[in-house]
Amino acid sequence: MTDWQARVAKLYDGGFRPMVIGGKWCAAQSGEVMEARNPADGGLLATVPKGGAEDIDAAVAAARAAFEGPWAKFTPFERQALLLRIAERFEAEWETLCLSDTLDMGMPIQRTLANSRRVLGMLRYYAGQAVAIHGETIPNSFPGEIYSSTVREPVGVVGAIIPWNAPIAGSIWKIGPALATGCTVVLKPSEEASLTVLLIAKLMQEAGLPDGVLNIVTGHGSDAGAALAAHPGVDKIVFTGSTATGQAIARAATGNLKRVALELGGKSPVIVCRDADIDKAVPVAAMSVFANSGQICIAGSRLFVAREIHDEFVRRVAEYAAGLRLGHGIHEETEIGPIISARQAERIGGYLEAGRREGAEVMTGGAAPEGAAFENGHFYKPTVFAGVTDEMTIAREEIFGPVISALPFDTLDEVVERANATPYGLAAGVFSTHLGTAHQLAHRIKAGSVWVNMYHAIDPAVPFGGVKMSGYGREGGREHVEEYLDTKAIWINA
Ligand code: NAD
Repeated sequence: MTDWQARVAKLYDGGFRPMVIGGKWCAAQSGEVMEARNPADGGLLATVPKGGAEDIDAAVAAARAAFEGPWAKFTPFERQALLLRIAERFEAEWETLCLSDTLDMGMPIQRTLANSRRVLGMLRYYAGQAVAIHGETIPNSFPGEIYSSTVREPVGVVGAIIPWNAPIAGSIWKIGPALATGCTVVLKPSEEASLTVLLIAKLMQEAGLPDGVLNIVTGHGSDAGAALAAHPGVDKIVFTGSTATGQAIARAATGNLKRVALELGGKSPVIVCRDADIDKAVPVAAMSVFANSGQICIAGSRLFVAREIHDEFVRRVAEYAAGLRLGHGIHEETEIGPIISARQAERIGGYLEAGRREGAEVMTGGAAPEGAAFENGHFYKPTVFAGVTDEMTIAREEIFGPVISALPFDTLDEVVERANATPYGLAAGVFSTHLGTAHQLAHRIKAGSVWVNMYHAIDPAVPFGGVKMSGYGREGGREHVEEYLDTKAIWINA
């Protein structure tokens, strides 16, 4: 038994894990629970409350009371100090947080551990932002008579709804700017992965977060999630998840015209030009999809390769994919963990089937792995399809699984047009050793982020988000903080 495995039993023993409302750890008012199971082996980790609309009501009331009460009295410097204490608490418990994620949603432990710089960086970045918020003095048409200025105020109670594929970063991306600006939060994690978010709330409480500033309601999207999106007491909704759910949330938010920010799905292109450094590009292009078993919004799932190098490049990506180690995320050597649920695995299976039926060629993968180690979990081998055309289902729809569709191209104008011919616009990758080509493609691709000769980089200080049906609003950077603030103009007749 490895050291990691020994810690598993201590962390989750199948018992009940309450949610937190107004600083109190509680069950759902209905008394109902949901099971949290390990997607790698089906083992029961814990049960959590199956919260509903009445729990959302209580959480929004607690968030409002905190917003107007003790939290409003915190100075920016006190909020900064609190965020820094939270970062310290997280750093001290980082391995436990990562282990929780690995168990709850399957991400290999080596990958969760590697995310620490980014997540701790987020908390420290927002700590800096907390003391950098200020308004302006604005010259007007009545100089010397009337004085006008602006102040920046927190938007109020923020409802946050997140998916299951990156619970630590996903929740801190929402909570960090709220704490920096003085907002309060009601967060609903995914029903597929609630445990780490509950742990995060506990660590924040231990670091001194006042009651009611962060409330967690675990539950289903159609129930607790929909109630939060529609709640008249919520001033803003920040959502990460699928485009279809984002549309439902935007509709639900119209009741009180709450502000909405949406980080949604993608079908991102990776463009490998004929002058690309192939040795460097192969592993990056492969892992742009296979990391987290393809369950990443920015997955570079449409691999456009210059025809001159297409066959060699795709063969090498397929070889790389075939060499990746699949397994339970708890093993340090595991590179590719499980798929989150039976439902998601079935969806991926449907896409593999569609790819074959529509005439694409499986270069590697295309099936679930065999063997006792995979029997009780949900797994798919990293898959590379060649002979794909733009019209095929696998080239058009977000699969959210470990599947690459390789597509040859001839000219830059052609690849730009094809890469942009998607309703999505989240991210893109470009591989070229020619600066001009890289520059041209980076400008012409319609996406929120374009990475050149790299992929995946996300930083607290750099804005991230989508265009088109990948959503609106930005996370990271100064713009992110702005999204949690309102501007008030103040006029003074001297
Ligand atoms: P999902 O849309 O099914 O669920 C996301 C969250 O929304 C969950 O908490 C769910 O309970 C909740 N929800 C579901 N229906 C709801 C409703 N009617 N009202 C309110 N809440 C509701 O997405 P998922 O399957 O958990 O995650 C995968 C999707 O998330 C993919 O499309 C992926 O691209 C996207 N994603 C985007 C980003 C990004 O930053 N752009 C990051 C990660 C994931």
